[in-house]
Amino acid sequence: MSRLSEVFEVGGLTVAALSDGAPDRPLGGFFHGVDPADWTAALGITDAETPVPFNFGTFLIRGDGRTTLIDTGMGVPAREMGIPGGGELLLRLAELGVARDEVDTIVQTHLHPDHCAWNTDDDADGAITFPNATVYVARAELEHWNGSDLDGDDRAGVARRKTGPYGDAGRLEPTDGEFAVTDSLTMIPTPGHTPGHCSVLLASGGEHLVILGDAAHHPVHLEHHDWIPGVDLDPAESTRSRGKIAALAVEKDALVTGGHFPILTLGRVRAVEGGYRWEGR
Ligand SMILES: [Zn+2]
Repeated sequence: MSRLSEVFEVGGLTVAALSDGAPDRPLGGFFHGVDPADWTAALGITDAETPVPFNFGTFLIRGDGRTTLIDTGMGVPAREMGIPGGGELLLRLAELGVARDEVDTIVQTHLHPDHCAWNTDDDADGAITFPNATVYVARAELEHWNGSDLDGDDRAGVARRKTGPYGDAGRLEPTDGEFAVTDSLTMIPTPGHTPGHCSVLLASGGEHLVILGDAAHHPVHLEHHDWIPGVDLDPAESTRSRGKIAALAVEKDALVTGGHFPILTLGRVRAVEGGYRWEGR
């Protein structure tokens, strides 16, 4: 089983990878458009049904005068699934000595239910969990999930419940394009998985970290941009976004991680003949 939390440094920033659930599960659904023999070999397994370590991950960033959460996990449903660490994000924060009211910034990679659940507390009638936090999320993401065509859609319902109370409180910031939340944290649009999906680039002291969000569900996606997660709404666009973020990671010589990668997965993307190679650290 992967770990539930791990702390590391990026320049002057302290980054805590925090799990809100760490199941082992078959990952075949993330590799559409490819012969199972190819992707299973890349993952080091022989059977597509073999459970592989997975994670519902979030990241806490400190050291730039803010206390920032990148995504807020899967929440109570993960607990109800009985998976290790499921729905325990608030416990993980408490273990670090971080109180709810210290979190002043939430950056959403997107608004799928496994990324925004702890914005509000299902154990407390859906009240705001982080009373001093402002939520940053791409305007395109908000417009998608709030669109009348998705009225009655379960996932849209979650996205609305998890952002609406912040909007009512005047603490919801829709972002457009590349958006610098702080001097050291920039949201980078990587649409396709969802219309407003963003990855996150941290920069401090000459070091960089790319937090992919769901631009990749496994490191091999950084080598094979056209291995399509079945959950990507626009596969062609998500393929282009994987190319964009891989190129940025190379340009910055950035460490790279993702919310669904087991804790602690860090690596670098290298440009090689005809493509990219993932180099785990
Ligand atoms: Zn996800």
